[in-house]
Amino acid sequence: MAGGGYDLEEIRRRADIVEIISPHVALRKAGRRLVGLCPFHQERSPSFTVDPENGLWHCFGCKAGGDLFRFVEMIDKVDFAEAVEMLARRLGVQPRSPEQAGHQKERERLFAIYAAACAFFQAQLKTEAAQAAQAYLKTRGLTPATIEGFMVGYAPDGWDGLLIAMGKRGYPGQEMARAGLVIPREGGFYDRFRDRIIFPISDSSGRVIAFGGRSLSDAQQPKYLNSPDGPLFQKGHVLYAFDRARRAMSDAGRAIIVEGYLDAIACHDAGFTETVATMGTALTPEHVELLRRRVPRLALAFDADSAGMGAALRSRDLFEQAGLSVRVVALPEGLDPDQVVRERGREAFEELVNAAVPMIEWELTRVFDRVKDGTDLARMDGLREAAATLARLPAGVEREYYTRWLVGKWGSGSPAQGAAMEAAIREEIAQSAARKRDTGRRRKQRDVNKQAPARKPLTGMYGAVLSGLIRHSEIGRPHVAELVPDDFPAELRDVFTAIRGLMERGKKVSAEALLSDLPPEARAVLAELLMMEAPDERVEESIKSAVARIVEARLTRRVAELSRRFGEAKSKEEQEKIGRELAQVTSQRSKLVGQRTVGQE
Ligand SMILES: [Zn+2]
Repeated sequence: MAGGGYDLEEIRRRADIVEIISPHVALRKAGRRLVGLCPFHQERSPSFTVDPENGLWHCFGCKAGGDLFRFVEMIDKVDFAEAVEMLARRLGVQPRSPEQAGHQKERERLFAIYAAACAFFQAQLKTEAAQAAQAYLKTRGLTPATIEGFMVGYAPDGWDGLLIAMGKRGYPGQEMARAGLVIPREGGFYDRFRDRIIFPISDSSGRVIAFGGRSLSDAQQPKYLNSPDGPLFQKGHVLYAFDRARRAMSDAGRAIIVEGYLDAIACHDAGFTETVATMGTALTPEHVELLRRRVPRLALAFDADSAGMGAALRSRDLFEQAGLSVRVVALPEGLDPDQVVRERGREAFEELVNAAVPMIEWELTRVFDRVKDGTDLARMDGLREAAATLARLPAGVEREYYTRWLVGKWGSGSPAQGAAMEAAIREEIAQSAARKRDTGRRRKQRDVNKQAPARKPLTGMYGAVLSGLIRHSEIGRPHVAELVPDDFPAELRDVFTAIRGLMERGKKVSAEALLSDLPPEARAVLAELLMMEAPDERVEESIKSAVARIVEARLTRRVAELSRRFGEAKSKEEQEKIGRELAQVTSQRSKLVGQRTVGQE
């Protein structure tokens, strides 16, 4: 659960936002507010503003903003739950209910178990029994300092080494089984990890939450064995070495993603401390979210033929939606990042990372490299495959660019040959697009009706209505019923819904009440709304006219939608039905426009 079972209101009440912000920003008073230089973007004159009364902050320069939790999230680069936990600890706020307190206790207990198990594995690596493991780590170039730094350990061969050692420390088998470290069997338990090199996996604040074990011989399968998912660890939510890479990532403005523990360690060792590793899973939406908040750019250093690379290529939409620029590092055939760093040196890897290309270019190059020395027929097939790849890009500058790029790369012959090739590529793209349209058409039509109004700045009619409703809720109350959440741009809907909810429940609309109703992303919007300079006179008039404009915009969208459907109607009955509604909406709209003209001019 977000917030980890803490009473967010209590944290808010006890915290002084100025006290939390001022170690990071030199604030000076400006009226009822405080201002300073924004810690989240470079600036010379202060646009970072704190509203101590409402416990909010907002930067007019980079538009960042929110409440105290958001500030901690951004300044300490942690997620929401961690920010809550950090503040709770700092302010001495206990988890809410006894049940949740118990839950919290159990988590603390699990952390203790993993820490103790980690120490056990580390000690085992130094014993005689771990010779093969030591030798292996040496061949992979790990220095004693690196082994220590990454807390690499060894799980002894046998069935109960960890079980017995932990039993002596007061952790019974039952509890160890819940932690995923031992497995129940008839009359007892046995160790999950046996004769394996152990890589501890940490959460983003560096606490061990799971282990990955690598086998030492091909006979022992699987090669990699992870802790099972549990209360602290979900494989798809965690990236290996993320805790160590966090700061470096922000500094470098990018993250390097590799696939294995040893790849990550080798990269860190060579100074690429912005490296993290997936652990045998594809990049999940949770991973992307974790990265998106810290860096704008990802460099994937995956094995070209791996399942992970295939999955990453299919995730293009996911990256795009997250606004991430993703490039692929072209690793030399058959080498992984670990080998590149160790065998060819730091500079070689640096060069490869800097030469990383957009995913589409990497895909096209791979097709080309595969067929370039082949027969004409093979080359033609390759070209068709490349064109189909291109067709997956939306029409636009990027697709245009890579169409030309493809012709340039492929068409070494005459200009006429080049032109013919370009025509062939365009034809293939058109065909692919047509196939896609056929399947997508029906669904799209249904969605049009729900289309959101375009993104508008808060300073427009949307901002005027919302800030009016918050500041002067008594005056605004009668007008709320005229609006629906879909009238607002997506980022403002939550705020509107929360305001309406408070009014419907007969509660007072205040920043404090809204904060507890809003999801974290919407709090930044709220902060911005509250910091906007809004007139305190002619309030009712300004709310009324903004509401009218919003309703008018809704009707205009509806008229456009109905007109389109009218043109596409398949039967006479359908056309008549649409026509009636169209007439009704049109007259509604003209009435509204008439009122506005009379009322204003
Ligand atoms: Zn800023």
